[in-house]
Amino acid sequence: MEIRNFCIIAHIDHGKSTLADRMLELTHTVEMRNMQAQLLDSMELEREKGITIKLQPVRMEHKGFIMNLIDTPGHVDFQYEVSRSLKAVEGAILLVDATQGVQAQTVSNLYFALEQNLEIIPVINKIDLPAADVEGVSQEIINLLGSKKEDILHISAKTGQGVLEVLDAVCEKVPAAASLPLPEGELEGVGAGLRALIFDSVYDDYKGVVAYVRVMEGSVTQGDSITFLGTDVDDRVVEVGVFKPQFLSRERIGAGEIGYIATGLKNIRQARVGDTITKTVEKQNVQQLPGFAIPQPKVFAGLYPVDGSDFPVLREAMGRLQLNDSSLTAHMERSHALGQGFRCGFLGMLHLEIVQERLRREFDVELVVTTPSVLYHVVLTSGEKKDIHTPDAFPDPSFIESMEEQWCSADILLPRKYLGAVFEVMAQHEGNLISQEVLGTERMLLHYELPLRELVVDLYDQLKSITSGYGSLSYDVIGWRQADVVKLTILMNHEIAEALSLIIPRSKAEAIGRRVVDKLKDLVPRQQFAVPIQAAVGGKVVARETVPALRKDVTAKLYGGDVTRKRKLLDKQKKGKKRLSTKGSINLPPEAYIQLLKR
Ligand code: GDP
Ligand code: MG
Repeated sequence: MEIRNFCIIAHIDHGKSTLADRMLELTHTVEMRNMQAQLLDSMELEREKGITIKLQPVRMEHKGFIMNLIDTPGHVDFQYEVSRSLKAVEGAILLVDATQGVQAQTVSNLYFALEQNLEIIPVINKIDLPAADVEGVSQEIINLLGSKKEDILHISAKTGQGVLEVLDAVCEKVPAAASLPLPEGELEGVGAGLRALIFDSVYDDYKGVVAYVRVMEGSVTQGDSITFLGTDVDDRVVEVGVFKPQFLSRERIGAGEIGYIATGLKNIRQARVGDTITKTVEKQNVQQLPGFAIPQPKVFAGLYPVDGSDFPVLREAMGRLQLNDSSLTAHMERSHALGQGFRCGFLGMLHLEIVQERLRREFDVELVVTTPSVLYHVVLTSGEKKDIHTPDAFPDPSFIESMEEQWCSADILLPRKYLGAVFEVMAQHEGNLISQEVLGTERMLLHYELPLRELVVDLYDQLKSITSGYGSLSYDVIGWRQADVVKLTILMNHEIAEALSLIIPRSKAEAIGRRVVDKLKDLVPRQQFAVPIQAAVGGKVVARETVPALRKDVTAKLYGGDVTRKRKLLDKQKKGKKRLSTKGSINLPPEAYIQLLKR
């Protein structure tokens, strides 16, 4: 049987999960009675946010073909994972909502897909809707891809109309990954050493670390001794199998197949995305697949339980999360204001938000998250070198000899009409325009260099919003450069709120100080007295606001009548209070810390 490996590239809500559901039904991969909508979005958070955080591969059979579908996360924080999943397939369905047209998440992933020479199958979805503009959207796709109009498929993932044709097109157009079964001898023969690309890995309570792989060459069988070439870890295969979409064990998986290798390892950091698995006996003769990298944390923040007695719960939860998230780093830390907690490293702000949400939902821990920071290399006047990523640890300026921060190169793809707006935003973020290219008649590609601290916080979201979603961004860290940053201290009611301190560029101290106090004014719950909020750099106040005193009791309006309503309100207030963290005498809701950083 021939194998077709593909993914679906689509903007949020354009119908990727719904299309996957229809494919699962039409190929009888999942019994109808077991179907639930958006079956492949297994995390509750994904369902809610409508984004794919964890990709779920699935194997189907259609008209004598084996078809493997991999889903891809669509955010810059996870661009490395996306690039590895695209390495695992030969084709991509470009799925576009007929009422929305081509959107940027699509474009950045499409851009990656084209770079990997994937066969692209353009599909217009939601043609059942009255607002569908099939003609207009076709034209956009033609402009973008240069496809022929008759090659664009029209479907409704909701009703199933046209979905069969999509499956047929994948079989017809996507190049074969390999034929199965391979001729005798080719599996085990000389020169057919195993090379399996890890495109994801998970920790399973029963199976240990499970590597999701695309077998490039050779085959792997239960019991094989294997080596992870990038991390140089030796191991024995506990089980191999395919995704139906749940694990289905098989005797072996071979070249072209997408499947899993259960390893028995306990640490997910030993089975890294992008690494190559080979057989231990062959490891001298086998070349590691190109592109292996370990994504480094870019943003650091402290996570503390709102209620200090929850620390053991947080520690347990953090351990569980790290089992499944090899990019999350965590070190125990103690702060005088916030007590015992963790200093964590994240791939970006979305990653931080996801971790925070998961801790809250899956483990029921309320957190204070301190304002995030990138890493700084500081050389002290004593000659001592320090890695600083917390305002807490930021040395007194008089002891600082020099400082460095990371810079990155960023590629921004955008429709020409947003050029002015993008130039402006990039200037605000200290971006240096290195070069620009014209792509086709409508689109531009800009190459920038800018400090990582400017990129990680909200640049991605800002670009998305000023380009109505059509702009896309990818980036690489390029190295360390001289930095000029200071510590901004926030005082509430004349007390330092340590968790709110920020490391910021000296030149922006006033502007950022003003923005922070302005936001705090709205975030700080009103007290019985007026609360001054100040931002200061090295003892000098750069911005100031006052939260006016509370006038009314919350229940004041509910005089007479409804006692239950009054009690409910008071209950709610009490619950709210439990969620508040104590900053000196002033309470701040936990979510305030992230809100503060966004523009
Ligand atoms: P995803 O974010 O790309 O995975 O999108 P979903 O599959 O979750 O779909 C987003 C929304 O669009 C859901 O409410 C779907 O029911 C709806 N939807 C998906 N495909 C169609 C379609 O062909 N027609 C209509 N009317 N709605 C659709
Ligand atoms: Mg989805």
